[in-house]
Amino acid sequence: MGCGTSSKVVRELPGSSFPLSWGKGLGRGSCGPLQTGEGKAEQRGHWGTHEAVAEAAQKIQVARYRAKFDPRVTARYDIQALIGRGSFSKVVRVEQRVTKKPFAIKMVETRVKEGREACESELSVLRRVSHCNIIQLIEIFETKDRVYIVMELATGGELFDRIISQGTFTERDAIIILKMVVDGVRYLHSLQITHRDLKPENLLYYHPGAESKILITDFGLANSGNKNGDWSMNTICGTPEYIAPEILSRKPYTNAVDMWALGVITYILLSGFLPFQDENHMRLYRKILKGKYSYKGEPWPNVSNLAKDFIDRLLTLDSNHRMSAVQALNHPWVITMAIKSPMKNLQRSISWNLMLRKSPHSRCSRSAQASESGHSSGSIHTWGNKLVNKTGTFG
Ligand code: ADP
Ligand code: MG
Repeated sequence: MGCGTSSKVVRELPGSSFPLSWGKGLGRGSCGPLQTGEGKAEQRGHWGTHEAVAEAAQKIQVARYRAKFDPRVTARYDIQALIGRGSFSKVVRVEQRVTKKPFAIKMVETRVKEGREACESELSVLRRVSHCNIIQLIEIFETKDRVYIVMELATGGELFDRIISQGTFTERDAIIILKMVVDGVRYLHSLQITHRDLKPENLLYYHPGAESKILITDFGLANSGNKNGDWSMNTICGTPEYIAPEILSRKPYTNAVDMWALGVITYILLSGFLPFQDENHMRLYRKILKGKYSYKGEPWPNVSNLAKDFIDRLLTLDSNHRMSAVQALNHPWVITMAIKSPMKNLQRSISWNLMLRKSPHSRCSRSAQASESGHSSGSIHTWGNKLVNKTGTFG
């Protein structure tokens, strides 16, 4: 299967590097300011010669970068800023020339097999879905070595960046977020689609406003079922801290793996801590297989028993007894949210814990650990911080 049929098939231009500089806060999902040198006038007033030179250099870089984008794409879209990097992709913010509307374009390198496969997974899902909490596909441009996926643009940044920056965070806030994510997952599961890489980095706010919806993104590891109606999957894949135990124990698994990941996300949402954590991936996997996590320390004494019950029913080792998305939406914690969910502010300890977690050190040591433990060279391949093993063997 090729990487999808495109609405446009375009000729490839030489060169693939991305000299465009990163916007503020980029690389973690937030859409930074325009990096084309068209800075705000009032900012410019304070800039000295050094900044002016930097701005000019940046303009040249952007111009060079634009020239490397496929001409059929640039005919329709003005490339404005690099807003994200994926394992085999770059994501840019663009403006549709005719309508002046902003969009995102994910440019996937399909020369490498893994990039091609991620692209196939992504497109096979995006072509089928239409839901307010799932990123919407606009159009596709395909070339020999690259696919340009035009999507709606999420400008509100990643879930945890917002929690860190806002003043308060209560269980009610967590439920509002989870209801949107779980409803998106319910929709995916109803189409026999399993995301397989649900994690905070793949949950983006649509806009910066307080009322913004959340969008599920990144379907590069998704499984969209098959014609025989066989729900089993064998591929060992995902992001280590979010991988369900049945994936690690090499059993065929079902869409319940997404519900496990939602349990991990809920645990982090309410505490800022991961339920299963270890610098060493083998030890981490052993902890996940045991399924033991704790509610000790801050802020757990301030978290309701209903919330903990919600987590427990998702972080259930036996996938047959784990809550489904529909059951999660009907859990008493979610249902009673509007009436009497606790309004204690958990923000202080959550954001402190999250900031520790998001530090560059923890990111570096995590990827270093993958190769130390042999996963990047063995039968398990790492794509950035993701694991993929199509053969079903592990370790
Ligand atoms: P990967 O599969 O390699 O993780 P993603 O699809 O997650 O790639 O894209 C990488 C990053 O690009 C995301 O973490 C996010 O920060 C940004 N991004 C992706 N899609 C969008 C979008 N539609 N709007 C805004 N930012 C996006
Ligand atoms: Mg991603």
